[in-house]
Amino acid sequence: MSVAFIRPDPPRLSEVSGKLREIEDRRMFSNFGPVNGAFEQDMLSRMFGGVGHCMTTCNATIGLMLAIQQAIGGRPKGRRYALMPSFTFAAAAQAAMWCGLTPLFCDVDPETWAACPQEEERLLALHGDDIAIVVPYATFGYDIDLDYYERMTALYGVPVVVDAAASLGTTSANGRGFGTGFSGAIVFSMHATKAFSTGEAGLIYSGSEERIAELRQMCNFGFGQARSATMPGLNGKLSEIGALLCQERLNTFGETMFHRATIMARYRLQLPELTFQPPRAGNQAHQFGVGLLPVGCAQDRGAFLSALTEAGIGNATYFSPHLAQQSYFAEHARFGDLPVTDDVASRVVCLPMFDTMTEADADEVIAVVRQELWALIAKRSKPARASWAAIAAE
Ligand SMILES: *Cc1c(COP(=O)(O)O)cnc(C)c1O
Repeated sequence: MSVAFIRPDPPRLSEVSGKLREIEDRRMFSNFGPVNGAFEQDMLSRMFGGVGHCMTTCNATIGLMLAIQQAIGGRPKGRRYALMPSFTFAAAAQAAMWCGLTPLFCDVDPETWAACPQEEERLLALHGDDIAIVVPYATFGYDIDLDYYERMTALYGVPVVVDAAASLGTTSANGRGFGTGFSGAIVFSMHATKAFSTGEAGLIYSGSEERIAELRQMCNFGFGQARSATMPGLNGKLSEIGALLCQERLNTFGETMFHRATIMARYRLQLPELTFQPPRAGNQAHQFGVGLLPVGCAQDRGAFLSALTEAGIGNATYFSPHLAQQSYFAEHARFGDLPVTDDVASRVVCLPMFDTMTEADADEVIAVVRQELWALIAKRSKPARASWAAIAAE
């Protein structure tokens, strides 16, 4: 039996041909049309309790570019850094660089694998006047503390754009969608590989009405007046067909999140040798089954994952290499030592997670992982055994 790593299962347009025909008959295919408008409203009321404002984009990377550009719009000259963790996806650093900024990488917290608050504070103290924006990543859908970032903006006057690409479906302790009420911008992805999967689509949420209104204009060529640009802009709009996929996804997402949480709970329970992110009070949207190998096992990760692949278990290593380890960012970004990031990235393993995954699939993954983990742990203890044997022989 083999189990894929991920198997994207977005809504099937072939099953909503009536709604597709409505779009065709209406002859409105983009430009924040009626399907898009209805989806944004529905998303806001179902995911964010009707609090705040949201808009779609064609994907999250364009959403990050827009949100960063909007947030730094009136920045004092000379502020050039975008402070972000190195343990994230290339999109955040690329987006900052498209906005003319230099990524400044900080280390992560050893438990949540998200930007370490002490490290952020240290870099803000060190480079304060040079930091144009802070771009934390809600790691693998983790419910990071956004009150802390509200305080950071108030204290240092620095804007915050949250890369929440994997977080659509994550809820906080109050049951509301991740980010509800946040005054900065939160950028979600609905890419095929995320828990809330369509094909290509993004969503920007903010508690601020003016922010979303301005972003919507920037997303449409910077047209503040009819066909007349008044601000920086690009074309980041989602098509009506893309919006139809999003709407269909929203209609079934509750089940999906529950299913993924169940699989993750099984991994946690049955694979105590792995280290997972600490559970939070709300629900986490799980993109993959992510854990860390035991301390000291990093050098054997390649062999461990090969054994999984050989046994038919799909796997991956997000985000390893982390950004500072990628040649392009190593050359263009700024960073110091990142010991926790190096350690987390060296031990991270991503296990199968998808909407149609069965309990039997999960059990198969667990059986193979356990067997290979124990082989690894036994191999690691060989030198120890040899030294004990030497002691015993003395
Ligand atoms: C997927 C992802 C993105 C990019 O999202 P797209 O919609 O594919 O552009 C950005 N950041 C992180 C952390 C991601 O996982």
